[in-house]
Parts: sequence; C-alpha cells; structure tokens
Amino acid sequence: MKSLKGNPDFLIIGGGIFGCAIAWNLARRSSGSVLLLERQELATATTPRAAGIIRNLNTKPGQTALKTQTKDAIGLLSEELEESLHWHQVGGLLVAESEANILHLEDLDRHAIKHGENFRWVERPEAEDLVPWLDASKANKFALLPDDGFIDPYLLATFYAKAAKKNGAVRLQTNSLRCIKYFLVLTVCSADS
Ligand SMILES: Cc1cc2nc3c(=O)[nH]c(=O)nc-3n(C[C@H](O)[C@H](O)[C@H](O)COP(=O)(O)OP(=O)(O)OC[C@H]3O[C@@H](n4cnc5c(N)ncnc54)[C@H](O)[C@@H]3O)c2cc1C
Repeated sequence: MKSLKGNPDFLIIGGGIFGCAIAWNLARRSSGSVLLLERQELATATTPRAAGIIRNLNTKPGQTALKTQTKDAIGLLSEELEESLHWHQVGGLLVAESEANILHLEDLDRHAIKHGENFRWVERPEAEDLVPWLDASKANKFALLPDDGFIDPYLLATFYAKAAKKNGAVRLQTNSLRCIKYFLVLTVCSADS
C-alpha cells in the first residue's frame, strides 16, 4: 500500500455511507492511497435518515449484488473491528392488496425458487400474528422474507470509515474546504476533453 504523502491515488468526495464503503473497499484491495473529503461530519447527511432496511430478495441484479456485498461487509467489518454491528435479521412481511402487487409477489416467489433464496407465502392469521397492529382486512396475499433485516445506517457508515482508517493509506478529512480546489481541477479537465 502506498503512503499518503503527495497526491492521493484516489479521491472520494463525500463521507456518507457510499464514500465510506468505497474507502474501505479500496483499502482492502490495497489499490493505492485514498483521500476522502467530507464537507461536514461523516455520515450526517442522508445516511443517518435511512431506515437501514436490507431487503434480501430483489429481482434487480444490481440491487442483489449490493445487498450481498453489504451483508458480507457487515460480517467482515465486525471481525476487523472486533465489535458487533448489531444486524437484526427480523424478516420482512410483504402485503399485497392490488393485482399489480400480487403479481410482484409472484415474481419474487419465482425468483426465489430460481436462485435458491428464502420466500414463504403466509396466510392472513399468521401475518396478523406476526404484526398485531397490521390492518390486513383489505390485503389479499402475504409473503414472508425471513432473511430481511435492518441495521443502524450511521453505525454501518462509521464502521466502514473506522476500518478504512485503520489502514494507513486512507485519510479521512472532515469539515473540509479542500474539495472546492479538487472540483475546480475536475471542471477544467472536463472542459478540455
Ligand atoms: C427517510 C429515508 C429512508 C431511507 N431508508 C433506506 C433503507 O431502508 N434502506 C436503504 O438501503 N436506503 C434507504 N434510504 C436511502 C439511503 O439513505 C441513501 O441511499 C444513502 O444514505 C445515500 O448515501 P450517500 O453516501 O450517497 O449520501 P449521503 O449520506 O447524503 O452522503 C453524501 C455526503 O457527501 C457530502 N458532500 C456533498 N457534496 C460535497 C462536497 N462538494 N464536498 C465534500 N463533501 C460533500 C455531504 O456532506 C454528505 O455527507 C433512505 C433514505 C431516506 C431519506
């Protein structure tokens, strides 16, 4: 891994969950020196406002890859930092009322069978038992996704950042004004091309 003296090999602008995750991934790949510039504090913009729900089953390939990598990262980060990230695998209940939503559930069922993922149709009494405050009177179909769960998004972002920083070639700079300089450079470059 290269040292941080001089210009970084990688510049990341923004220390939300994506910036922190990219910094950690670059650090793990020993790709070169990394500088992350955050104009405020890490993970204080959109990231802490998320519910932090991770849907296990998704018919979109991009979403599936993101989910798989995030779940792998949760395990790796806990090992690296020797701290729990408090992943809550509580399962998700999907409730369909309209024809379109029922078709979506059927799509997910087919997708789950094809990819060996967990999906289970449940009857109304079981759904009401699982979520007692749910008014399911108008719902027609229910499905349980047992591998779904949630995580504190702020905690996950700060774990990415801490683990990235543990690696000597990553520097995180918060309350930073330096990004303006880099943006000007990028603007000039794109005007030339
Ligand atoms: C109410 C709500 C619920 C959500 N629920 C979920 C959910 O359950 N599951 C899920 O997966 N997603 C959810 N999301 C979406 C998720 O929160 C976002 O996709 C994610 O947080 C985006 O992360 P980010 O790093 O791109 O952005 P941010 O967290 O916004 O980080 C961007 C950072 O860049 C910094 N920045 C911007 N410009 C500059 C600059 N010029 N120089 C330096 N720094 C700069 C900002 O200060 C900020 O810290 C939810 C979002 C909301 C609002």
